[in-house]
Amino acid sequence: MDIFFLIIVLIILFILIGIFVKRRSVKIQYIKMKLSKSERKGIIESVFHKNFLFYEHLNNTFKEKLITDSYILSELIDIDSIGIKITDEIKYTIFGLAGLLILGDENPNYFPNLTSVVVYPKMYISDQKGQNKSVNLGESWNFGVVVLSWCDVVNGAQNFSDGHNGALHEFAHQLDQQSGQADGIPANLNTDYYTWKNTFDKEYNNLIKEMENAEYDSIDFYGTTNKAEFFAVSTETFFEKPALMKAEHPELYNLLVRYYKIDPEKIFFR
Ligand SMILES: [Zn+2]
Repeated sequence: MDIFFLIIVLIILFILIGIFVKRRSVKIQYIKMKLSKSERKGIIESVFHKNFLFYEHLNNTFKEKLITDSYILSELIDIDSIGIKITDEIKYTIFGLAGLLILGDENPNYFPNLTSVVVYPKMYISDQKGQNKSVNLGESWNFGVVVLSWCDVVNGAQNFSDGHNGALHEFAHQLDQQSGQADGIPANLNTDYYTWKNTFDKEYNNLIKEMENAEYDSIDFYGTTNKAEFFAVSTETFFEKPALMKAEHPELYNLLVRYYKIDPEKIFFR
């Protein structure tokens, strides 16, 4: 009887998930159609020209995809603010950076767990229940919220080769959190679990050793905090310092090429 009940519950669950996925894909098709008939394309592209120096290096296919994906994200995910008015520049710079993480994916799922982005004008004090107060530039929460400071976002976007990009960092945490708690092992690895874990653990431990020996690395030592931070910081380095990362960490670089389905050295810095 118990097993029968469980099977019924599972069937209902699969049907509900199926309906949700179907509704979402119909909505995405509708948003794409809306974009083709609006003037938004021009507005988004002018924001990209202003804040993304790499934009002119992208080929036309990637340019088109980044515009479309940013617009879809801006329609699917709420953007709220505290102490700053959300402008087109803020909206499309933020969703443009989120769009970079799915640029190589022909059929992205558009951060299915992410429901809201909250923007502060600059660094802010986080005062979550049960946690100590801290000054923050950004956060990514398991319950589908990313918090960003605009000052940090725009600095990161306009200096796209220094290895620091707060928005890419927080959206990378969201990818990691799609598979539960952030642990440096995101969903949809495109490689087997053990290859990912072995490479990641080895590189993470090497970074800790380098920090202890005060050596240099293209990956920021903040990545030694834990494996979730290592994934987020590696993502920043991957997109912003690909040539250096490829030379210093070829295995890790290739793993991220497979994960993001893109080679930043070839498409952003050609
Ligand atoms: Zn982080």
